[in-house]
Amino acid sequence: MDRYDTIVIGAGVAGLTAARLLARAGRRVVVLEARDRIGGRVWTKRDQGLVTDLGASWIHGIDDSPVAAAADAFGMPMVEFSVGGFQPDGRPIAYYGPAGERLSDDEALAFATDVHAADAVLRDVVATSDPDASYLDVTETALASLGWDPGRLEVVREYFQHRTEEQYGAWIGDLAAHGLDDDSIDGDEVVFPDGYDRLPEHLAAGLDIRLEHVVSHVRWGQEGVSVRSDQGVLNAGSVVVTVPVGVLQSEHFVIEPALPEPVAGALSRLRMNAFEKVVLRFATKFWDEDVYAIRQQGPGGQWWHSWYDLTALHGTPTLLTFAAGPAARATRDWDDAAIARSVLVQLRRLYGERVEPPVHVRVTDWQSDPYACGSYAYMTVGSTTSDHDDLATAVGGVLHLAGEATWTDDPATVTAALCSGHRAAVNILGHDIPIEDVWADPPA
Ligand SMILES: Cc1cc2nc3c(=O)[nH]c(=O)nc-3n(C[C@H](O)[C@H](O)[C@H](O)COP(=O)(O)OP(=O)(O)OC[C@H]3O[C@@H](n4cnc5c(N)ncnc54)[C@H](O)[C@@H]3O)c2cc1C
Repeated sequence: MDRYDTIVIGAGVAGLTAARLLARAGRRVVVLEARDRIGGRVWTKRDQGLVTDLGASWIHGIDDSPVAAAADAFGMPMVEFSVGGFQPDGRPIAYYGPAGERLSDDEALAFATDVHAADAVLRDVVATSDPDASYLDVTETALASLGWDPGRLEVVREYFQHRTEEQYGAWIGDLAAHGLDDDSIDGDEVVFPDGYDRLPEHLAAGLDIRLEHVVSHVRWGQEGVSVRSDQGVLNAGSVVVTVPVGVLQSEHFVIEPALPEPVAGALSRLRMNAFEKVVLRFATKFWDEDVYAIRQQGPGGQWWHSWYDLTALHGTPTLLTFAAGPAARATRDWDDAAIARSVLVQLRRLYGERVEPPVHVRVTDWQSDPYACGSYAYMTVGSTTSDHDDLATAVGGVLHLAGEATWTDDPATVTAALCSGHRAAVNILGHDIPIEDVWADPPA
């Protein structure tokens, strides 16, 4: 029977990065991927000449970003699109107050200043929070200390709630107090007009990738590993497992012997979120000119409160909004037309009858995807930020977990996936490799 040096499970950014580095080092590597495509949660659709990223869109800060360096080396065009990390300001945003009226520049500035002031207090509250505190607990403590009148407090409270939903796809009471610790952005944010999938395409060059191989069992021991998929069994000296947390937690993916501590405990404290994209294309642009985003405050924006203007990217008037956290769970079984109707009710509060029905609607369904089980993992109450890195503790010297959830510095991102793939390769090779090797020449 064929024996490999390393089997990599999953052809997303983490798996492709690990496989590429191991293959460049001369190792015999095979990648097993359940889907009929590579890229995992980086997935671009091209229809009617229009490019839409259904998974990741942004690099949330290009300063010192290995993903930006890789994209640059691979010749991928990038377009600046900041405020993708739910910042209150930094780029023009059209704010609408609770009654649906456009806020003046001074009013928007006052609101953003309040968010920054509350965030400064919040940082200290989070730093001294109890291990079982939720993000709701710490935000309420911070808000209570400010002494503001109820109306002023309420829009900032709502902002914290929506930021949690848009950044982590979770209800604010379900996220750990430290769940947004990684939420800092260094430099401009960018998106990819030709599609983010060019990144996994480049990473995959020259690799032995077996599509439509659904792995169900991984057995590890002193002799190495044995991996069973619906196409048979393969053996190797080591395995890199990059399937999402939701797959690792499911009964359809069995690891034997069971994962030891600290990996098992860390895994039990992370959970896949509910976060879907809603992309709406219109025949004519009815919204404000020269803004990156539109934000609606107040109860009317409980679900649909933020829209990003992707017109420049798509060459046609396009808004992106998110069903995030509770909204994603509540609308999970709705069809695209019902979701579009619900979003349009909110847009008409702001722009009236100028809002025509969209000519094209696309809604993602990562929650029902058996190879993703959600969009990315969040820290449940009781987890610690180190749970991410703990997940990557080598098991028996032969089994290595990698993927977005295994990287403490910047989890839930493409950056985390790429860096964790690099770390897995370094651990297997037993010596350091420069991160730049990820975007150097493909394996011979
Ligand atoms: C809607 C959405 C928006 C996002 N926005 C951003 C963003 O703007 N910026 C950003 O940086 N990140 C974003 N992310 C997160 C980012 O896409 C992920 O963090 C990253 O792509 C994860 O890469 P990965 O390699 O860890 O996992 P994946 O890409 O999920 O790769 C794992 C692979 O394993 C395969 N697999 C699963 N089960 C099996 C099995 N049983 N057998 C074999 N193979 C299996 C999967 O098919 C998949 O290809 C977003 C994600 C989503 C879904």
